[in-house]
Amino acid sequence: MTCEIDIAGLTKRFVTNTVLDGIDLCLKPGERVAIIGPSGTGKSTLLRCLNWLDRPDAGRIAIGDLSVDAAHASRAEILALRRRTGFVFQNYALFANKTARQNISEGLTTVRGWSAARAAQRADEILTQIGLADRGDSYPAALSGGQQQRVGIGRAMALEADLLLFDEPTSALDPEWVGEVLDLIRSIADGRQTILIVTHEMQFAREIADRIVFMDGGRIVEQGTPSQIFGDPQDERTRAFLRRVG
Ligand code: ADP
Ligand code: MG
Repeated sequence: MTCEIDIAGLTKRFVTNTVLDGIDLCLKPGERVAIIGPSGTGKSTLLRCLNWLDRPDAGRIAIGDLSVDAAHASRAEILALRRRTGFVFQNYALFANKTARQNISEGLTTVRGWSAARAAQRADEILTQIGLADRGDSYPAALSGGQQQRVGIGRAMALEADLLLFDEPTSALDPEWVGEVLDLIRSIADGRQTILIVTHEMQFAREIADRIVFMDGGRIVEQGTPSQIFGDPQDERTRAFLRRVG
């Protein structure tokens, strides 16, 4: 099987606490994988390590022809990894002092080196795609939670990364805004980008994911198609978790 994203032995410790305990994961091009599992299990840390927001202690991350070994990653390799990954945060993490348009164009000028004019034009295209064509000049505080998260997603979309990482993108939202954000993610998930999403929305995971990965205690306990994991989970920990959330 060709892995577009190939994660091997990924390990992360906070002092003596081993939060990721040798994660192996292979994602095919365009595959949509949902990660589920109890809180405190290392799901966010895994995503953060893939974008080097947290520095892994050991293991390897390969995206296409780029391979980064945690033991001796160079600055250039880390930047290259960041260019190939887009991150959507639970709490949006928008710049409060920048407009929606500037939040989206920021990465294009800083990470991609685009001119301000070209980046602003691309940001306007994205604003249309995320249904906020008329809100480009608005600051985050003037937007609803759902609109802010759509900008957060737009910012990640703009970079046209190979791998999009979503960390519980709807868990900070008031219930009234969840639907529009899930709709936007659905529309992206039809594209060519490979998607790794941590979510507590089991129905959504079942619907959009090609594969479900269940994590517990810093390890992948079991993985399979949505019907395998939700319909016939093999591990007692998976069954216990699904009983709790279902
Ligand atoms: P999840 O996203 O599955 O809820 P996390 O990846 O956020 O889990 O956290 C996994 C574990 O790592 C938790 O025990 C958490 O307390 C710990 N942890 C996460 N970030 C840090 C940090 N910056 N410093 C120390 N411990 C951390
Ligand atoms: Mg988390």
